[in-house]
Amino acid sequence: MSEGQTLARQYLEQQRLLGGDAVILPGGSGLGGRDSQVEATPARSPMSAPASPSPEPQAPIPGLSFDPPSGDLFAADPVQQAHTLADVAALVAECTKCKLCESRTHTVPGEGPGDARLVVIGEGPGRTEDETGRPFVGKAGELLTKILAAIDFPRERVFICNVVKCRPPENRLPQYDEIAACVPYLFRQLEILAPKVILAMGGTAAQTMLNTKQSLGALRNQVHRFRGIPVIVTYHPAALLRNPNWKRPTWDDVRIARRLLDG
Ligand code: URA
Ligand code: SF4
Repeated sequence: MSEGQTLARQYLEQQRLLGGDAVILPGGSGLGGRDSQVEATPARSPMSAPASPSPEPQAPIPGLSFDPPSGDLFAADPVQQAHTLADVAALVAECTKCKLCESRTHTVPGEGPGDARLVVIGEGPGRTEDETGRPFVGKAGELLTKILAAIDFPRERVFICNVVKCRPPENRLPQYDEIAACVPYLFRQLEILAPKVILAMGGTAAQTMLNTKQSLGALRNQVHRFRGIPVIVTYHPAALLRNPNWKRPTWDDVRIARRLLDG
């Protein structure tokens, strides 16, 4: 049984225990191990099976019917069906999964070559990014371009993107629900790209990629992993513009990234 089917069965069993309608599973094996059907709490639905057990196997009782089209419940997820970066960008362009869609001018899915070995992840689009639909094109973006050039990585060879694809109003931090809604796009982009190194810039990117609340200071200066891919954490270029003291540690961090790319 595939992972999706196992999950689906667990879900349906949970629904049954919560008193959901009858569930009919294909393939002759029911959730409860009885025939091919799981009976709902009697009398919840006027259509459900009689409360007294019948000696003969019956025709499937009406109710919620689970019939996986291709054997995997999650195969129908459009994000999982996106096979190219352009497919992901097209989904993002139409996305209304969080309230950031209401104030955006353009979505900013990210940009760069499909064979990029380095992926840079920021927080979310700022004003210029929202106006142009391109990531890191404002002041912070200019600094990012310089940082990348300093490790001999022309920005054209890097895939550059953000945790959230629409601008948070007044450049506030993306909220937890917005990140949760948006992050499947980022994770799909990373699956498609399969880069050699990920550079997470700033607390939001670092904490999202590493699924932690630890501070940036605690996370930097070591090599983490996201699904096996090395993740380097460093300061956000916008923070460097405010705190030039952080340029030196950032330089140290990006050189670690460079070494991993060379290795
Ligand atoms: N800051 C970010 O985090 N991302 C951008 O794209 C621009 C500024
Ligand atoms: Fe969709 Fe992400 Fe934009 Fe929210 S921020 S509307 S989840 S693309």
